[in-house]
Amino acid sequence: MGRKVSRRDFLKGSAAAGATLVAQPWSFVFPENVLAADSDAPVTYGYSFCDMCNTVPKCGVKATIQDNKIIKVESRENYPNSPLCSKGIASLQELYDPHRLLYPMKRTTPKGSSDPGWERITWDEALKTIAENLNKIKKEYGAEKVMFYAGDPKEGRPAIRRLAYTFGSPNYGCESSTCAKAPQLTTQIVYGRPTMGSAPSDKTKVCLIWSSNPAHSGPYGFHKLLASKEKGVKFIVVDPKVTPTVSSLADIHLQLRPGSDGALALGFAHVIIRDGLYDKEFVENWTHGFEEYAEYVKEFTPEKVEEITRVPASLIEEAAILWATDRPSTWIGSACGTAHSSNSHNNHRAIVSLIGLVGNYDVEGAVTMPTESISFNDSATTAFLREADLFPKIKDKRVDTDYFPVWAEIENTIQANRLVEYVDTGAIRAMVMVGGNAMMWPQSQLYQKAIEKMDFSVAADYYIRPWTHNFMDMVLPAAMCYERMAALGNFGRTIYLREPIVEPAGEARSDWRTCFEIGNALGFTKEFWGGGEKCEEEGIKEVLRTLNVPVTIDDLRAHPEGFNIPTEGPPKFKKYELGLLRKDGKPGFQTPSGKMEFTSSLCEKHGFDALPVYKEPLESPVTTPDLAKEYPLILNTGARLPFYTHSKLRDLPWLNQFMPEPVVFLNPKDAEERGLKKGDSVEISTQHGSVIMTAGITNIVMPGVIDVYHGWAKANINLIVPRHFDPILGFPAFKEGLCQVKKA
Ligand code: SF4
Repeated sequence: MGRKVSRRDFLKGSAAAGATLVAQPWSFVFPENVLAADSDAPVTYGYSFCDMCNTVPKCGVKATIQDNKIIKVESRENYPNSPLCSKGIASLQELYDPHRLLYPMKRTTPKGSSDPGWERITWDEALKTIAENLNKIKKEYGAEKVMFYAGDPKEGRPAIRRLAYTFGSPNYGCESSTCAKAPQLTTQIVYGRPTMGSAPSDKTKVCLIWSSNPAHSGPYGFHKLLASKEKGVKFIVVDPKVTPTVSSLADIHLQLRPGSDGALALGFAHVIIRDGLYDKEFVENWTHGFEEYAEYVKEFTPEKVEEITRVPASLIEEAAILWATDRPSTWIGSACGTAHSSNSHNNHRAIVSLIGLVGNYDVEGAVTMPTESISFNDSATTAFLREADLFPKIKDKRVDTDYFPVWAEIENTIQANRLVEYVDTGAIRAMVMVGGNAMMWPQSQLYQKAIEKMDFSVAADYYIRPWTHNFMDMVLPAAMCYERMAALGNFGRTIYLREPIVEPAGEARSDWRTCFEIGNALGFTKEFWGGGEKCEEEGIKEVLRTLNVPVTIDDLRAHPEGFNIPTEGPPKFKKYELGLLRKDGKPGFQTPSGKMEFTSSLCEKHGFDALPVYKEPLESPVTTPDLAKEYPLILNTGARLPFYTHSKLRDLPWLNQFMPEPVVFLNPKDAEERGLKKGDSVEISTQHGSVIMTAGITNIVMPGVIDVYHGWAKANINLIVPRHFDPILGFPAFKEGLCQVKKA
């Protein structure tokens, strides 16, 4: 048997993983208390992929199994994403955590009681109760009054979405409405296709990473970025903080005031157009609204942008010229960094417009689109989701159209962030949730109340999480990645099947099976294969059947190394010239104008700015100077940590030791002005309330800004952030509220 891991080994190994400096797969052995003691049972191996974070697709896991117990996990050889990070390694502690939820539970006290009085029930009773409640609401008020929601992990999304549309509700939403949808929808509005950018290839000369920290949010790919740097790619990194991505990659670091991203991007455009560095052929032939845009950016001189953003004008010039001249240059977008502001869509639009401005769209080495992609939709297919046949018939009953009309026109999942209003107006009366988290929303207490007010709500999860589930009627035990089949892993044209490698804990079931069983109990027996142990496999077969490529579940079983579907030819670039981007096959882009849009026809149609106009945050020293006197610091929250996934994993001993307590990071200058020392207990206050944390004092945070990690139940920063939403994307302003910090 392998060596045992000590706390010191784990810290050492995980620190290395965090920096992603480990070139070879490596492993840790699970501690003695879980290892089958002195067992002579034969050792076998199982293959899976990790679901400890929210990144899809996941990292490959090779598991050593003895006595139906996983005793070791390590990186799966030749799997596209590796090595495992600290969270992946600690998945064993979650798998065998004695606090896991093992059985369906119903509350026995009235809503509003501090203790729900959870009582174990059978799955039969749970499914019967769920079906009775949902069908009652459907009969009395309409199916659309039931909201279906997927949080973390994301793998339950296709199943619950199929359930929503089959039941008759268009109101399916997911946690991407505070995350990746911002860059995806913005690029869809500008270019007609969603993208979050492209990693550098061998042809790339410059890579612009804008408010993203892949060292923490995508550790499995970070070593590839380090390798690109070794090969000579120049990196421009925009971030208010000196993150590990900045310190290990940035040739130019643009350290901007949070929320001022749009101004910085418009400053780039000013320099590029002023100096004639833009791609004239692309702009002339393939874009819409350039004259208006060029006129608008004239006012964003580097000097003015320095005043707004605090980035030195000389650095803005240097970065803009590098981006425009050393082509091909690529961009890696941020899921959340630029999204969490009250002007997030325009800020994003100003950033992604820079790609077309210098002709870096779908050029080899720049931001590219796949040529022959397999039409996976959220790890399933549009047909599996019932998005093409059922959703169009019910979409006029979605709840978000009046709040976010641009979103509702181009995105079928609803923008869920106005849940409070949906419930208050009676538009939503019940909820089915897999992996959700009420702490993720601004002023979370309002969302807890909204969930509590519903006629009925049920969630599936690995644990009872009181900040969410104590406001609900029922909780169902969810199976972890090692215990379940769905979903498929897909990397481009290579597909992986996951099979359970150990028995589920207690009566835990996969989110797919749970959703299918609910569908079956609701009377949709054919659509959900009659429920039961095999329904999950039937669901996977349905995905494969509707994928329109020659692959079966037997093919996947025969190819644990991944089943590759070859392309018909080499990749093609500049697909807008070839008629490969539009549905009608004509050259151009799938936008209303048929071109890349510097001025958005869609935003204009709905009465919003056609240009990517810069607006100050709704709370800032400029917009609300009086408020800034009382609350002079900018509250920046929502960033990722390498060892926690949002509010999750904080109770796992291997991970908790990295940051056992909530910490607020301040610049030494701000700390000194307030007489604060490292380790002091401090109160962070806004006009919405206060929380207590421990002071961390560091130069990685810029003066005038504090940095707080979200997700602490004991000090939930989201209780006190402003409840401002971008009018187009609906994203909350997690990165621009005003606050004060003082000794507690
Ligand atoms: S990054 Fe870490 S937590 Fe996320 S899938 Fe990979 S190993 Fe798991």
